[in-house]
Amino acid sequence: PKYSKEDVLKIVKEQDVKFIRLQFTDIFGMLKNVAITAEQLEKALDNKCMFDGSSIEGFVRIEESDMYLRPDPSTFVIFPWRPQNGKVARLICDVYNPDGTPFEGDPRYVLKKALKKANDMGYEFFNVGPECEFFLFLTDNEGKPTTITHDNAGYFDLGPVDLGENARRDMCLVLEEMGFEIEASHHEVAPGQHEIDFKYADALTTADNIMTFKMVVKTIAHRNGLHATFMPKPIFGINGSGMHTNVSLFKDGKNAFFDEKDPLQLSQDAYWFIGGLLKNMRSIAAITNPIVNSYKRLVPGYEAPVYLAWSARNRSPLIRIPAARGEATRLELRCPDPSCNPYLAIAAVLSAGLDGIKNKIQPPPSTDKNIFVMTEEQRLKEGIEALPGSLEEAVKEMKKSELVKEVLGEHIFNKYIEAKTQEWDDYRTKITKWELDEYLTRY
Ligand code: GLN
Ligand code: MG
Ligand code: MG
Ligand code: MG
Repeated sequence: PKYSKEDVLKIVKEQDVKFIRLQFTDIFGMLKNVAITAEQLEKALDNKCMFDGSSIEGFVRIEESDMYLRPDPSTFVIFPWRPQNGKVARLICDVYNPDGTPFEGDPRYVLKKALKKANDMGYEFFNVGPECEFFLFLTDNEGKPTTITHDNAGYFDLGPVDLGENARRDMCLVLEEMGFEIEASHHEVAPGQHEIDFKYADALTTADNIMTFKMVVKTIAHRNGLHATFMPKPIFGINGSGMHTNVSLFKDGKNAFFDEKDPLQLSQDAYWFIGGLLKNMRSIAAITNPIVNSYKRLVPGYEAPVYLAWSARNRSPLIRIPAARGEATRLELRCPDPSCNPYLAIAAVLSAGLDGIKNKIQPPPSTDKNIFVMTEEQRLKEGIEALPGSLEEAVKEMKKSELVKEVLGEHIFNKYIEAKTQEWDDYRTKITKWELDEYLTRY
């Protein structure tokens, strides 16, 4: 439901909502919130709600720390798992400067800007449907997360009905109560790994939904005595967790990726969009796959993409074209993982694709062979490059990209590179268990 300010005030009164959480997302994809009481809501909805932005990572410098939260009334929703007398609800907010201009460090603003560019090119909608995977782990006696699961199920398995199955059921029910349309939920390939798919929507709604989804999954897991993690590769030797991202563009009320007459029934726009994605993928990887651990998922052997290729038949490449056509024609980008900031990732993917359309970038022919069994020589001959192999390489690529700088804006671009360089440095200077196992006795 799309609510107005008046609707929200009315529901809050009628439904006995006592607390409203004003939520926003920082540049690293962390959900932040400040709770206000129902009495303060009208003031907040009139955009008079100030907060100190100085202690939020990647936000502002200390001396200019006053920020304003402007709630988006259409995002109002009551938390079903909180007490039902004196209920708790939330509103997702845009972040504004004291002078009334949008704050350029706000990821939601970055996505809105990218969508505006698509609109200016004549595309009224960019629809996005994510497939979020995650692990459910047991907690220890102190309640701390472990990487242990008692679940031995695999892809699409039913039972044994364990904690994981029950938790996943609760998650789906709560999400439905909050207005999500759950399309599918299933056990994933790895033990303890699950996937819940909710219906696609326009890009902004989907980014908001991904933030809500992760919060709900973590909350309900906790209530079931489990820890849910969206870390891309928590365990070596088994599949990691991706966030396959299905995208389509709409022009004049029609799916702009569909063309009946083409052999694959894909439009010129679709081919160019693929071309733009492939061209820019190495530069946007630091956004779609933002953490050190992301690159431990993008290795051969675990259904995660490694090479820059596309196919309508094969499941292994970076971009796959699911069989559906007509209004459901879409591209599935398989590299993003759920540790990404969905606002930035979707903005980057859209802008990379639009770059292809604007500059008529024809993609290389589709690869219907299994790229993983090709030798490096064969791959190079076919011009198939690889995704970055580490966060370090990804950040290096991102630094060189005018496109990424323009999408993120100078503020986020600089903060992001600074933080990610630090993250890599911190990691590369640590002595790991692998090194000790390999070297301590050998040398
Ligand atoms: N978990 C795999 C990945 O990392 C995807 C597996 C699947 O959905 N078939 O992307
Ligand atoms: Mg799936
Ligand atoms: Mg999956
Ligand atoms: Mg998929």
